[in-house]
Amino acid sequence: MKEPSNMPLNYDLLIIGGGINGTGIARDAAGRGARVLLVEKDDLAGHTSSASTKLIHGGLRYLEYYEFRLVREALMERENLLRIAPHIIWPMRFILPHSTMLRPAWLLRAGLFIYDHLCMGMTLPKTRRINFRKDPTGGILQRQYVKGFEYSDGWVQDSRLVVLNAMSAREHGATIRTRSRLLAAERFDDYWEARIEDSATGAVTKVTARAIVNAAGPWVTDLLHGELSVSSRNSTRLVKGSHIVVPKLFDTPQAYILQNPDKRIVFAVPYERDFTLIGTTDVNWDKSADHVAIDDAEVTYLCESVNRYFNKSVSPKDVVWQYAGVRALFDDHAGSASAVTRDYKLDLDVEKAPVISIFGGKITTYRKLAEHVIEKLAPHLPVLSAESWTSHAVLPGGDFARAEFDRQVAALIKKAPYLTPETAWRLVRNYGTRARNFVTSRKEALGQHFGADLFQAEVDYLISEEWARSVDDIIWRRGKFGLRLKQDEVSQLAAYIDGKLAANA
Ligand SMILES: Cc1cc2nc3c(=O)[nH]c(=O)nc-3n(C[C@H](O)[C@H](O)[C@H](O)COP(=O)(O)OP(=O)(O)OC[C@H]3O[C@@H](n4cnc5c(N)ncnc54)[C@H](O)[C@@H]3O)c2cc1C
Repeated sequence: MKEPSNMPLNYDLLIIGGGINGTGIARDAAGRGARVLLVEKDDLAGHTSSASTKLIHGGLRYLEYYEFRLVREALMERENLLRIAPHIIWPMRFILPHSTMLRPAWLLRAGLFIYDHLCMGMTLPKTRRINFRKDPTGGILQRQYVKGFEYSDGWVQDSRLVVLNAMSAREHGATIRTRSRLLAAERFDDYWEARIEDSATGAVTKVTARAIVNAAGPWVTDLLHGELSVSSRNSTRLVKGSHIVVPKLFDTPQAYILQNPDKRIVFAVPYERDFTLIGTTDVNWDKSADHVAIDDAEVTYLCESVNRYFNKSVSPKDVVWQYAGVRALFDDHAGSASAVTRDYKLDLDVEKAPVISIFGGKITTYRKLAEHVIEKLAPHLPVLSAESWTSHAVLPGGDFARAEFDRQVAALIKKAPYLTPETAWRLVRNYGTRARNFVTSRKEALGQHFGADLFQAEVDYLISEEWARSVDDIIWRRGKFGLRLKQDEVSQLAAYIDGKLAANA
């Protein structure tokens, strides 16, 4: 056995996984003074954390499964997240039509009453009842839907939330390495020695850390038993969820929450100004988490859900984009995929140097989850004992109040009068005050045009500041340019990125 005592340790914490949980923990730990290394085998938010429905929500549906703790924590977090990321997270109203065939109106009303009151100091507007014959939100609904409700929740640009947490972690001293896979880690009494492979060069580096955080999402169990060689009784159940995007079905700013005869619910949400996002499904998944794709039956299911409610119908040929991801739910041995708990479980093993694994979770609760991880690790890693800080510290670019959003857009247009209101709005939505880091008063400084409203200055910023390395990183995760760029424009952008990276190498 190697002698650990006077060997210099590279890091306090090695975090495996650059999804929302890994980056959230990296940010929190680095801000408390820990030396943090995060490794992600692909891109930040390359898996589940970019494939969500993008709701910052308590989860109205989970009340049916008596998940009061989870719903309350998530609703409290909704308030925190709206405050710390007013650019990429914003309030949204949801229309819930009552169907006489499904849950009775009194049950919906009771559920929404609880939903409105579980969170102390809620700043969002409360539920209201709707008569669709009189309300503009009823215009797109079929005649049989007469009554319903409108309630509040939040919306997030999920993959951007991950990147902003990684940026904040870096600003607090953390090292973030994407395209870097943990190959194996050897455990000693008070440290780990890990081998990490750079997927671009194939180079393998060795690092040591006092503790490991296993935030590998769908790979959490495989990583624990495989690369980390640690046994655990906990396991995950993989449940696939898919979404489709179609040209916009309605002009109202609200989203719709549609109940299905199988008791599942599907959301139809205004998306990227010209589109509607529809999802999600819930299908047990026993194949590799690396290759997850929507199937025809899911597309049909989502179209049918919408066609049961809206006048305008959709069919598979309307789909302009689709995506799928797997939820790694903590396995509580529930029957159906929908009934498996959405709560998370933390598994701390301190038999030798500590390792903590995260089973389950939601984007909405990532910040609180990170605090819980730090609390559990702190007795074994005193550097983490500093006070919690992330509930009131804004994420990069989010240093303005929610109500100031339009003023931020106006200020950006004042600085760069050539921007259209739509582009200025998008830039503030994506980058907040950081948009000023690459938007200047001179239009020529934007550089090469790649199509839609994407210019070289933004691409360069994404490469230098946000770890973008491939065309997909930019068109599907840092932004949603993929919905608008033509194939030849995508190819041109890819060639530019390759050239830029080669020049930087
Ligand atoms: C369809 C769907 C809809 C959802 N909707 C919502 C919603 O509306 N609101 C909400 O709050 N939550 C939602 N969720 C849940 C939420 O998306 C997840 O809880 C969250 O994204 C999980 O994040 P994570 O960091 O644990 O996992 P991931 O995002 O999957 O990150 C884990 C990362 O670990 C990396 N990794 C694995 N092994 C290694 C290794 N050996 N070395 C280096 N890196 C490794 C992977 O590449 C991956 O990027 C939804 C989930 C799904 C699937």
